[in-house]
Amino acid sequence: MRRVTILGATGSIGQNTIDLIDRQPDQYEVVALTGAGNIAQLAADARRLRAKYVVTAHEDRLNDLRDALAGTDIEVGAGQAALIEAGARPVDWVMSSIVGAAGLAPGLEALKQGATLALANKESLVCAGKLVMETAGLNAARVLPVDSEHSAVFQALVGEDIGAVERIVITASGGAFRDWPLEQLEQATVEEASNHPNWDMGQRITIDSASMFNKALEVIETHEFFGVDPDLIEVVVHPESTVHALVGFRDGALMAHLGAPDMRHAIGYALHWPERRELPVARLDLAAMGQLTFRAPDPARYPALGLAWAVMRRGGLSGAAFNAAKERALDHFIARRIRFTEMAGLVEAVLDRFEADSRLIDAGMTLDNVMITDHFARRWVDEEMTKRAG
Ligand code: NAD
Ligand code: MG
Repeated sequence: MRRVTILGATGSIGQNTIDLIDRQPDQYEVVALTGAGNIAQLAADARRLRAKYVVTAHEDRLNDLRDALAGTDIEVGAGQAALIEAGARPVDWVMSSIVGAAGLAPGLEALKQGATLALANKESLVCAGKLVMETAGLNAARVLPVDSEHSAVFQALVGEDIGAVERIVITASGGAFRDWPLEQLEQATVEEASNHPNWDMGQRITIDSASMFNKALEVIETHEFFGVDPDLIEVVVHPESTVHALVGFRDGALMAHLGAPDMRHAIGYALHWPERRELPVARLDLAAMGQLTFRAPDPARYPALGLAWAVMRRGGLSGAAFNAAKERALDHFIARRIRFTEMAGLVEAVLDRFEADSRLIDAGMTLDNVMITDHFARRWVDEEMTKRAG
């Protein structure tokens, strides 16, 4: 029996993870499950999977969760301390699929107890890549990528020497607005941005795909996880989402990873690694597909993408500032306080302010400093909006 915990169990990645576990329930002992507002889903999964400890991120929902689990002996918790406790409960494998910087601290707990961390929460690596990888190293814990592109790169590197890599190409679908006339982007609504052409994912990452903030995070994730130079990383728009990534070696070979757009592949690979087991994903019919297309991302359509290289060059806590500013700008777009096209400019303004802040620019990479940077960056987005409105 493998003991597993799922942080962010009620989300898109969490539910896909549970789908795999549900197929072989006798092989897994589910220790902790966490969610936020979707108490009914969380409680139903906890009952069926016989979880030991269940946590909602919302402090004020503790009683609802307790009621929903009445008649069971499942332990419940709520709030930040309980999320940390969920990450710290001893297990073999933890899925980190909370969305946003909120996933960092519980994921670090999982590494500290030496568990294998299946990392969907790319924000952890963007905010605190050095801290995450060092914590893993110090505790002989392993981080396995779950983002489809990074899982693809990881698989292309099996048996290879990272020193022989001359380029890593990650693909981007181009998101909801890849074919819109540029001048229409200003008018894009939250509903339109939340409608991904190929992947079925949570709302926030779906909107981030339309803006390519998601790809910017993934470029930084590639740099932090594989330790490669920023200049080796490329992004190509590939509307079919069939090739997830390619790794180029110094002899000119380019190894591509292809598969249906179904996150259960990357989740299953991380769940069964280093073995490959059968997974319930569609098999590609190459002849029916006929052709695959690629094009360069247009910087005018995707101004957020280029910010990734500035962040990687700056290093330190700039990733934490970048991610937090992005999260806050996205909050404002979802709340309809700003336009889709305003997000990138706000984040860039925050990065400029970060550069000029002598307290943060040279501060060490500790969890406290990451959280402080996160706090300031969110506040600076709001201040920048007030300035622009006034
Ligand atoms: P989602 O919005 O569907 O689910 C998010 C989960 O996090 C839910 O369980 C929710 O309850 C929980 N959560 C939300 N706010 C929280 C908070 N403040 N504290 C604690 N828990 C909180 O998101 P998702 O699409 O499943 O994405 C999860 C992560 O995986 C993200 O980091 C995303 O970038 C990454 N990812 C997702 C996909 C995908 O296909 N959905 C693909 C690649 C990477
Ligand atoms: Mg991805």
